[in-house]
Amino acid sequence: LDAGIIPRADRLIEYLHRLQDAHGALHADHLAALAEALKLARAEVFEVATFYHHFDFVPAGEAAPPALTVRVCDSLGCAMAGGAELAATLASRLGADVRVQRVPCVGRCDSAPVAVVGQQPVLNADADKVAAVVASGEREEAAPVAIRFDAYRAAGGYKLWEAIRSGECDPEAIVQALDGAGLRGLGGAGFPAARKWRTVAAQPAPRNMAVNIDEGEPGTFKDRHYLATDPHRFIEGMLIAARVVGIAGIWIYIRDEYPALRRLLAEELDRVRAEWPDLPPIELRRGAGAYVCGEESAMIESIEGKRGMPRLRPPYVAEVGLFGRPTLEHNLETLWWVRDIVERGADWFARHGRNGRKGLRSFSVSGRVAKPGVVVTDAGVTLRELVDEHCGGMLPGHELYGYFPGGASGGMLPASLADVPLDFDTLAPYGCFIGSAAIVVFSQHDKARLLAENAMEFFAHESCGQCTPCRVGTAKAAELMKQPVWDAELLTELGTTMMDASICGLGQAAPNPMQSVLRFFPQEVGAAKEEGAA
Ligand code: SF4
Repeated sequence: LDAGIIPRADRLIEYLHRLQDAHGALHADHLAALAEALKLARAEVFEVATFYHHFDFVPAGEAAPPALTVRVCDSLGCAMAGGAELAATLASRLGADVRVQRVPCVGRCDSAPVAVVGQQPVLNADADKVAAVVASGEREEAAPVAIRFDAYRAAGGYKLWEAIRSGECDPEAIVQALDGAGLRGLGGAGFPAARKWRTVAAQPAPRNMAVNIDEGEPGTFKDRHYLATDPHRFIEGMLIAARVVGIAGIWIYIRDEYPALRRLLAEELDRVRAEWPDLPPIELRRGAGAYVCGEESAMIESIEGKRGMPRLRPPYVAEVGLFGRPTLEHNLETLWWVRDIVERGADWFARHGRNGRKGLRSFSVSGRVAKPGVVVTDAGVTLRELVDEHCGGMLPGHELYGYFPGGASGGMLPASLADVPLDFDTLAPYGCFIGSAAIVVFSQHDKARLLAENAMEFFAHESCGQCTPCRVGTAKAAELMKQPVWDAELLTELGTTMMDASICGLGQAAPNPMQSVLRFFPQEVGAAKEEGAA
């Protein structure tokens, strides 16, 4: 613990990180001492330490894991690119001194397969490349080449923020611009941003703000892209939101898989605080490898130093959120657009769009395309347009067979539905949703059923375990999906139960890819084709 700083229970996860960073793992006697320092029951500290995948708890008398861990992603894009095989090869090649783990999405799906040596990502990895990094001793990723504070200001950045701060700019005009642009929450839920700002501003003070940079949805890497290139555009949007809504304190939650971005953000926030010392307190919090913490109420629990278990709603976080206070919760990208929308005008944003849809969207495109990456283009673009116009077409030798329109949770669509506009609300008739716009494209060389199985295993791994339909349902479904012929009736009943009775979006969305296979790819699982299926 920092000398002179009063230990705070809400920083429990930060302290656990520090212990693990210093000692390589979490040891039982250290946890007991931490519980005493924080005046928490030991059980509370132990339950948090064992909830998050990135913490290595070592019970008394047991051996600590090897000093070096190589994490190999085996989520959708990396699985298609041979992630599981790479992990198996590395496990035998690197020997007992290195721990090789198969892990869910590390947010670099445009460079699949990906392995992470310590904290050093190896992109488009193969066993030789990973072994070379292990031997080199490199363990940390270099800072990204982002636009830093001075360059951002020199190019006109923070003018809008200063106008709001000085009272020159009317806060209501900002909210109206967001409203006119139709800006929606871009973390996946798509809730209108202006309405959220108004709702939280109408709640009694003090009001808090929580920023979600926990993008763990397999296939999603747009927030990483924005933070690695233009972090101040997001920070300015965040400060504007805080001022307009009257925020007392800001907490930024960034996933543990982005350590170089966390360091960058910490440096740039210091710069911003030095420029405007009267800002509300801003705390940067480090996730610990739990996908469910991307769910807004689970993230809030995690910031409060607890297990990331989603809350039952109501009350909604806008009314009772972080530390019991009304909370404005936003994804990084939503805030990233604020400056452009206000400066260029609502019409500028709203006049983009195709096929009857309005606005711009950031698509994270991965899988069997020639040029994967973040594509910023019209809302309502179709998969075919996206791949042909922005991704250089399909990889040579690959033909479009299907795609995930919204990461692992958004379901799957066949090639025959490649001309459906991609946006919020347009995919519901097909049992899919766009979520955070993570497009994973697959070809005739892939099996939809294996990808759906991969997604279900991911959800089973990431379920917080709080409710039975999700905890048991995901595990049971993953088991049933290994059968050569699927029991369509049983899987459908199981999926319906999970959707109807799970507490949060994880359990409710987990059956989507499985149901997509039954509907659109029945030939793969020996199921009868449903009427109306493509
Ligand atoms: Fe936890 Fe799953 Fe229930 Fe969500 S649906 S609260 S992740 S068990």
